[in-house]
Order: sequence, then C-alpha cells, then structure tokens
Amino acid sequence: ASLFAQVELAPRDPILGLNEAFNADARANKVNLGVGVYFTDEGKIPLLKAVREAERQRLEAAAARGYLPIEGIAAYNQAVQGLLLGKDSPLITAGRVITAQALGGTGALKIGADFLNRLTPDSIVAISDPSWENHRALFEGAGFTVKNYRYFDAATSGLDFAGMLADLKALPAKSIVVLHACCHNPTGVDLSADQWKEVVAACQAGDLIPFLDMAYQGFAEGIEPDGAAVRLFADSGLSFFVSSSFSKSFSLYGERVGALSIITGSKDEAARVLSQEKRVIRTNYSNPPTHGGTVVATVLNSPELRAMWEAELGEMRDRIKLMRNQFVNKLAAKGAKRDFSFVNRQRGMFSYTGLSAAQVERLQKEFGIYAVSTGRICVAALNSKNIDAVVDAVAAVL
Ligand code: PMP
Repeated sequence: ASLFAQVELAPRDPILGLNEAFNADARANKVNLGVGVYFTDEGKIPLLKAVREAERQRLEAAAARGYLPIEGIAAYNQAVQGLLLGKDSPLITAGRVITAQALGGTGALKIGADFLNRLTPDSIVAISDPSWENHRALFEGAGFTVKNYRYFDAATSGLDFAGMLADLKALPAKSIVVLHACCHNPTGVDLSADQWKEVVAACQAGDLIPFLDMAYQGFAEGIEPDGAAVRLFADSGLSFFVSSSFSKSFSLYGERVGALSIITGSKDEAARVLSQEKRVIRTNYSNPPTHGGTVVATVLNSPELRAMWEAELGEMRDRIKLMRNQFVNKLAAKGAKRDFSFVNRQRGMFSYTGLSAAQVERLQKEFGIYAVSTGRICVAALNSKNIDAVVDAVAAVL
C-alpha cells in the first residue's frame, strides 16, 4: 500500500472554511465579519505610511541579505522590550529581560512553548474559555495537557472574574497560564487594572508561570496603557513570558513579525535562558527573516516614523471604536430586541455579540453576512458602507 494510504483528512480550519464560502458567494452586498484582520473604511488591508517609508529606506540602502543572528535583530529586540516594559524599565537595565525575534505571534508562542516543555514538561497549560483557537493546539503540539479557566460570562457578555480567579487558584504549582494582555480574542472582554492585580497575586501565591500573549498592543487605548498588564507582572518580581505580534499593529500580517520576551530573575539567569531559547530556534528554523524585523525596528527607532506609526495606529483604534458605537446605537435606534451596549465595553478587533449559531447561520444564508458560529464578529471589518446592512440583518435575526 502507499505510504500515505492510512493518512486521515485533518479537519478544516473553521475560519478559513468561512472565507472559502464567502469567496464563493455571488451576492454583491456580502460582508465578511469572520476574518481576524483590520480593514480600512474602504474595506482594504492598509499598508501603513510609516511602513512604506521604512521600506523605501531599506530598498535605498540596498543592504546585503546575510543571515541574522539566531535571536534576530538586536535593535528590533530592544525596541520590543521598550514597547512592553517602557525603555527605562529597571528590568531591562538590570539585564533580566531577553527577547528573540520570532515568526509572528504564533512563532513566539511556539518557541516559548517548546522551551517551557524542556524546562517543565509535567506542567499543565491553562487557557481562557474561550481563547484564540490556536492556543490549545499549539501548546498540545508542544507536549502539554491544556485546560480551560473560566473567562467569558454569556449572561453579561462580560468577564466571569470570580470563576477565572477561582480556577487560577485551583491550578497546581508550575502551571502555565496563558493570558491575553489586552484586546482578548475572540471575546473583546478585558480585565480592569484591579482585576489584573488580583491575577498577578494569584500567580504569585500559586507559583504559576504567566505567559502573556500581546497580539493587539495599541488597539484598546494606546501603546502605553495597553501595556499595563505587562508592567504589573514586571513590578511583581515574577518570572514570565510575553509573546508579541506586530501583524495587526503594523498591518504586516504576511511578513511574520513577532517576538518572544522572557523576564528572568537575574542577568546571569537571562544569559542561560537565552542560550537555551537559541537552541530551540536553531533546531526549528535557524534564524528569522530580515524584512519585517528591519521595517519594524526602523519605525520604532526613528522618532519621526514612530510618531507617524502611532498616529496611524490611533486612526485604526478610533475607527474600530466608531464602528462599535454605531453598531450599538443603530441597533438601539432600530428598536432591536436586545441591548448591545456591552459591545462598547469590549475592546480590540473582536466582539462576542451573543448571537447564537442559528442566528449566525441566518445572517449568512439570508443576508450574505458571514461571522463565526460562536457569534464572534470582527468589528474592524465593519465600515460606513456595510454597517447599515449588518445592523438591519442582525435586528432581523434576533
Ligand atoms: N495571539 C492572539 C491572541 C491572536 O489573536 C493572534 C492572531 N491574530 C496571534 C496570537 C497570532 O499572531 P500572528 O498572526 O502574528 O502569528
């Protein structure tokens, strides 16, 4: 028999399947709210001006394309630390933070997970219920058993904080807790500063290993405020992991720009941890690609381009908030049978709308509006041209 005769067909990625159905839909007024991408009001993925300028400079420099170091571009890694911790962070000054450029946020999670599995193979991993759909598969693929902690409260479309805290407190020591640093995917529900303080205390008391996933820094309130949870963990003295993604904040999805940062207990520890992390990278893909990291480092390390980028990021953030607001207000104005004001309290690109799978199916069949069956919509795919059609359809299926 053929070598592959017994290979089973893996299940399709549900969101990619949704895209295929959307592309095959012939209706002119169709709307895709299923994707996890920021679109402009014209429905396009932006190419940021700051990125274009950095790319122009790079092209002009006509630099050779030698290998990067295993951990990537030093100026990039430094800039990432500055975004997360503030560039004057005493942890950085003390040499306790290591950062490695990674293949997007996913690549950062993966090299972190592989390192952790060598360090503490019997740990379990706890992720929010629900979480980004790749968290479970990624940590299971790295060899861990993955559990959920309570998170979303369907009754309020907000946070089940009591449940979350109870579940974290019940975890065995050395459990790895994956936390969304801001703009939770898929729900849009975040913790308040006081709630973060309690989570930090629970991690300390329970000897847990925090792993913060930062995929949307700048999409809630701005670079600095969105780093608040990371800063609280930094102030706690705990050792922890942070994965960064610039896919959304730089609109560089296909360039795979991310980073893994590890906050260690001392400079000496940091050197040893980095040496092991480099081994993980070396045996996976050897070293990262040059383009995306160079572009992001150029923008972050030039005061002029950085200001330009922060302004463009601010425009994206404001447009999402405007869409949240219009979604809520227009539904209320139509006399919708449900109060959607919670959508204004959710943050980032996504919202758990509370729409049922049956309602989502009706949106697709009757109106050509595509969303994830969990009721997640990408708010960043709403725009001034499609919002009325979406609101009318939502009101009709309630
Ligand atoms: N973590 C979360 C919470 C995400 O939503 C995403 C993707 N959107 C990622 C990680 C992965 O990011 P990237 O596309 O940079 O790999």
